[in-house]
Amino acid sequence: MKEYNKWTTKDASELYQVERWGDEFFGISECGSLCVYPNKDPNGPSINIQEVIKEVEEEGLQFPVVFRFHDILRAQVKNLNETFAKTIKEANYQGEYFGVYPTKVNQLREVIEEITDAGIEYNYGLEAGSKPELLAALAYNTTPNALTVLNGYKDRDYMQLAMLGTQIGRKVIIVVEKLSEVFTILDICKDFDVEPMIGVRAKLNSKASGKWAASSGEHAKFGLSASEIIELVDILKSHNKLHILKLFHFHVGSQIPDIRTIKDCIIEGARIYANLVKMGADLEYFDVGGGVGINYDGTSSSSDVSSINYTLADYVGDVVYMLKDICDVEEVKHPNIVSETGRAVAAHHSCVITKVFGEVNLTKYREIDTTANPNDHMLLKNIKELYVDLEESNYLDIYNDAFVIKEEVLAAFKLGVLNLHERSVAESLFWNICHKIILMTEDEDFVPAEIQRLKTQLADKYLCNFSVFQSAVDSWAIGQVLPIMPISNLDQRPTKECSIADITCDSDGKISKFIGENGHRSTLPIHKLNKNESYYIGMFLTGAYQDIMGDMHNLFGRLNEVHIYCDDDDPTDFYIEEIIQGNSSAQVLEIMQYNSTEMSKKVKKEIDARIKQGLLKPRNGVKLIDFYEACLSSYTYLNI
Ligand code: PLP
Repeated sequence: MKEYNKWTTKDASELYQVERWGDEFFGISECGSLCVYPNKDPNGPSINIQEVIKEVEEEGLQFPVVFRFHDILRAQVKNLNETFAKTIKEANYQGEYFGVYPTKVNQLREVIEEITDAGIEYNYGLEAGSKPELLAALAYNTTPNALTVLNGYKDRDYMQLAMLGTQIGRKVIIVVEKLSEVFTILDICKDFDVEPMIGVRAKLNSKASGKWAASSGEHAKFGLSASEIIELVDILKSHNKLHILKLFHFHVGSQIPDIRTIKDCIIEGARIYANLVKMGADLEYFDVGGGVGINYDGTSSSSDVSSINYTLADYVGDVVYMLKDICDVEEVKHPNIVSETGRAVAAHHSCVITKVFGEVNLTKYREIDTTANPNDHMLLKNIKELYVDLEESNYLDIYNDAFVIKEEVLAAFKLGVLNLHERSVAESLFWNICHKIILMTEDEDFVPAEIQRLKTQLADKYLCNFSVFQSAVDSWAIGQVLPIMPISNLDQRPTKECSIADITCDSDGKISKFIGENGHRSTLPIHKLNKNESYYIGMFLTGAYQDIMGDMHNLFGRLNEVHIYCDDDDPTDFYIEEIIQGNSSAQVLEIMQYNSTEMSKKVKKEIDARIKQGLLKPRNGVKLIDFYEACLSSYTYLNI
């Protein structure tokens, strides 16, 4: 039996890499609970997530629930703006920073309200990429000097809406994404007595690596090539409108893994900017787009969609200093800097908390009599011998032989040579061999790949009340690793290795890629379930994209949400400011064109008919329809 040292919360922190992905916002308390430190100070105010769970339970709100920590959101807005301001000052850079939060990253009204409010003192604005996002930006981005930057393809309505913004005094900049848009802008200009500010998005040749690389390079969907930019300048000049070109923009993709890409883009972008200025453009803003990534898996490497090899301060340093150097060499003025940093602002502030409600053990060790029996079929005799002969020196050979016999047993069963009982004995012996091998290799540094795979295949699954497609879509779509860990008991050693299965019916509704000490691992170390205790796990860094990209697979819909603020004066150090109910079944069905009133009527008609036929008592019939209607108006997730 392996001897273990005493387990501490420090071990838990290392196991789940909390310090690496948590960015000082998360940590583990002495009593083994995961906590939020809104000021990044473990000795400052803290929110014990287990306590929030308790309060949510007392409120009668069903899990899964999105926990939104608004203090983190505010802290990130402050951090981004102050990092730029500090670097600009240190570099003696002549322009200012006018950041815009890209609405698409998380459009929830409360998120937008919090971000714009926290950004007032920094003139922090919004970016919109569609008409609905622009409608929201016009209503919520009211800070007088903050920018509203408009990206994405635009129709006439979109541009007229932009002009409405200009007319009410907003600093709206319409970014030309394809050349033909300039003609619509020039045409619309005629109908208004104010002039728009426009920007141009360049297709840079510098290409980002990673999953969003297609946003950059010559073949990118959005933006103008070098020759189209020249053409744009000529068109504007010929209409005496070059002075409305105020912003130069590029965006080479989200979650840029490698800082070298950023350096390349700044160099190329700065040269284009300088050339445009020399061509007579009165550019005021240099917009570096989004792309600042998140260290989701804590590895700080550039090799995967889940990490990055730089910090926000490194990024800001490169933007400011490299832009300054090139402007100085080219002898053009330092433009104001705009960034559309979204993921890095929003990711940390929300997480999904869900209950583990059961486990699936794929194959259990089953006691089988392995004594030789003269009546045994040859295949059975052979696999029994393999089981008996198994030892540490031959486990790989035995595994391979047993694997072949298992296949032969199946073929023999299909031909009617073996009966169901014989098949079951042979298969159980195969799985017993596998279990024994896993135990044998538990502490080995090197384990052959097939045995590694076996460990993953045989790991138990913890069943969790959530939908991967709704709450962690990038984990399914692009294999992004999100931090997942238990919320409590972190002062106790986790003694199980599990993968996570959600409640969607699909075989894709699972997570089997987790943060490991040296990269990724296929199972999550976790505690044993205790029948009398609820066990919660959290999925973290879901505030950017995951929160709002979820789809309706299995019609689970949006989750219940609580908005949490830190409050030092409160005995629990926090208060829940708002509860937002997730979707009811009727709501998600209505999105799919069902009419819940009609549905109730149909079911009621059936029930009435059965009552008339004497097949159902009226009292029971009423109960049935009441229950059907109650289910329609209740939460879509499991009530456990
Ligand atoms: N700006 C534009 C034009 C985008 O398309 C995006 C998203 O990809 C962003 C900004 C936000 O990028 P990120 O969340 O990586 O900062």
